[in-house]
Amino acid sequence: MFKVGLTGGIGSGKTTVAELFAAKGVPVLDADRVARDLVEPGQPALAAIAGRFGPDILKAGCLDRERLRRIVFADPAERRWLEALLHPRVYAELERRMAALATPYCLLVVPLLLETGRRGLVDRLLVVDCPVGLQRQRLQTRDGIDAAQANRMLSAQIDRPQRQAAADDILENTGTVADLAGPVERLHRLYLALASDSRP
Ligand code: ATP
Repeated sequence: MFKVGLTGGIGSGKTTVAELFAAKGVPVLDADRVARDLVEPGQPALAAIAGRFGPDILKAGCLDRERLRRIVFADPAERRWLEALLHPRVYAELERRMAALATPYCLLVVPLLLETGRRGLVDRLLVVDCPVGLQRQRLQTRDGIDAAQANRMLSAQIDRPQRQAAADDILENTGTVADLAGPVERLHRLYLALASDSRP
């Protein structure tokens, strides 16, 4: 299985781009989705989180993600603790789900791929890119947060030049969603060709 990683800053448009690949029949595995599955009621990781942050981190037995988000964005040590708990489990689960696929390539949406030093997980890296100001604006509109909260979320990630430098392909998301269709089609053809070349 040829693995294309999709990463980008928070609010850059990863989900939007992933949906365009999914519409072409490309399987999309999303690390954030896997992470959410791992903290469903009854999962061992949820018990570990409740053990660390106390029962108030649960609402009717489910993780209160807004509360957790506030805690970990305010305290880097707690964020590191949570990442050490979840990241190895997320990557193991992604590998397990990939093993069940039978398409030429798949797309792995991993927001923190570079921050977690997992570039080696994928054969090719696609970065969704847009200026930080636009990221902030989209985040504020989507999540109903203020500029200060958006800035805190943005500053928890590696900066744009580092992400651009790590990319094999960069998809500019500065126009409309419709503007993405052409570039996504070209990338899809490229990945089919690369997947075909990489087959033994
Ligand atoms: P996160 O890192 O928070 O998961 P993301 O990188 O997946 O975010 P999206 O959720 O795809 O980003 O996009 C962020 C917001 O910006 C969404 O509300 C989305 O609808 C909007 N958006 C994305 N791309 C565009 C675009 N080209 N034009 C207008 N709005 C867009």
